[in-house]
Amino acid sequence: MAARRRPVRFRLRHALAVFAVLILVSYGISMAEVYSTLAQRPKDCNVRQLAAAPDASTPAGFADPHWLVQRRGTVNDASCLNRTAVYGVAQPTDEAELVTALAFAREHDLKVTPSGARHSMGGQASWPGALILDMTAMSRITIDEASGTVRVGGGARWRQVLEALHPHGLSVTGMPSIDVLSVGGTLSVNAHGIDFRTGSLAGTVRSLRLMKADGSVVTLDAGHDPDLFHAVIGGYGLFGVIVEAELVTVPDEVYRLEQRVVATADLPGVLDALAADENNRLMSADLATAGSPLLDQAIVYTHARFPGSADEPRPELRQEPDSPPARLMFNLARHRGPGQWLKWTLQRDLLPRLRQCGTSRNEALRAAEACLVSRSQAMYSDLSLLRHTIPQYTDILHEYFVPRDALVPFLRATAAALQESQAVALHASVRVVHAEPILLDYAQGERYSVVLYLSQEVSAEGNRDMADLTRTLVDRALAAGGTFYLPYQQHYTRDDLARAYPRIDEFFALKRRHDADLRFMNNLYTRYA
Ligand SMILES: Cc1cc2nc3c(=O)[nH]c(=O)nc-3n(C[C@H](O)[C@H](O)[C@H](O)COP(=O)(O)OP(=O)(O)OC[C@H]3O[C@@H](n4cnc5c(N)ncnc54)[C@H](O)[C@@H]3O)c2cc1C
Repeated sequence: MAARRRPVRFRLRHALAVFAVLILVSYGISMAEVYSTLAQRPKDCNVRQLAAAPDASTPAGFADPHWLVQRRGTVNDASCLNRTAVYGVAQPTDEAELVTALAFAREHDLKVTPSGARHSMGGQASWPGALILDMTAMSRITIDEASGTVRVGGGARWRQVLEALHPHGLSVTGMPSIDVLSVGGTLSVNAHGIDFRTGSLAGTVRSLRLMKADGSVVTLDAGHDPDLFHAVIGGYGLFGVIVEAELVTVPDEVYRLEQRVVATADLPGVLDALAADENNRLMSADLATAGSPLLDQAIVYTHARFPGSADEPRPELRQEPDSPPARLMFNLARHRGPGQWLKWTLQRDLLPRLRQCGTSRNEALRAAEACLVSRSQAMYSDLSLLRHTIPQYTDILHEYFVPRDALVPFLRATAAALQESQAVALHASVRVVHAEPILLDYAQGERYSVVLYLSQEVSAEGNRDMADLTRTLVDRALAAGGTFYLPYQQHYTRDDLARAYPRIDEFFALKRRHDADLRFMNNLYTRYA
């Protein structure tokens, strides 16, 4: 018996449904690919439309030197939102080449801006029409085991410092949480990381060599021109170029990584108790970026000294493997809701079970410990997870420093502000910093730092929303007796800056004394001096 044919309308609907599913699946696959792909190059977004970015053939009115590695064109920073048209980029490999570049800038009255990894986010490492000094080729590293110090070229990245120290059983006293940043760039913002005993970098610097605008080099330390020494650290490149830093090292100890989940209301007490244990050497807390209210839970990570490990050999430093699924998870959180819930739940509950530690049980220590890691390995991270290719989003960092008893109220206010502005927090964390005798000291006492890593839409509206949120959080931080970090977007006013950094006028006056022609320039100076 012949099968009954289905009506034409039914077959059409069926075909349409199959077609729609195919479209959805192929859209999902292409989204997943974009959301999980590691970006090979820094992003360059042109939100602040430049009329026409000058190309290499645009005449400067004088002959270009052969040593420029980029003629005209633009540079950008890690936010991708600060595309800036420049005269060109020089990449000196030693002090003689730097002297030549500075002489050329003086002769042709060009402004100069030093730059490292260009991970600042407010145009601090560029200036329109300037000669940009890309310092990354000045990266020589010399270890002096007798004095326990390492001399590092200003353009060296922290990764290179860890790699150089590793064979000597040594590690850094402090560094930021991402190892691709340059030593000169991070000293110029006084960066800090997860060594809560060290706090920021200022206390880890024995001396600095600074090249001034006239090409002369001065050696600075707490005894030789301490005023300038304490201005250059956290000085945003406004006094000269850090050509070398002498940093104090520490032994590359073996630590055991532990994590515990706590209510944010209990965080200060928990951090104090953990800090009181001498064995705990590294510590930070990641806050819940999902749920309601936001930020009300924390995962506290500690790295504690592992007894009896002093003489054990350290395995080679290992590059974290790139993980497209992890990047996909991370990026899905940009769409809030289930994506954010999934990311936080996996980080809190699944990651501890999957985590591979840098030193395996068999490889070292002969102990029944599954999760041991050397200090340098714990810091050896390029956070490649964050490097994405999604065209419509970029990532913006904020950081606030608040007195200890203000932490919980400040986090509540921050959670409310994030919710109200519908901002998407991809990551939020708390660390510990201490006062330093530098001019632009953000801590000014025992402080918690609150770091927010936010997703932003690449558009004029995205910029406006981020500016509004930043101003709200700056206000809250100041009201809590706190301050804000300066390498990020400059949505604060001159008054905000003066409240947060009471020595700012002294800082600018000292800049004018040491750089009378204002050769070194960036928008921290022009917007606020
Ligand atoms: C993903 C990410 C993670 C981060 N993590 C941390 C963290 O854990 N802790 C933290 O404190 N900060 C952190 N930061 C902020 C970071 O420390 C600053 O943005 C820092 O300036 C980056 O160093 P850089 O080499 O990219 O400097 P750049 O952005 O290139 O330069 C920053 C400033 O330093 C000046 N400068 C650069 N090199 C020199 C030099 N040799 N001599 C004199 N001046 C110089 C520049 O003119 C500019 O004013 C992070 C930023 C990003 C994007």
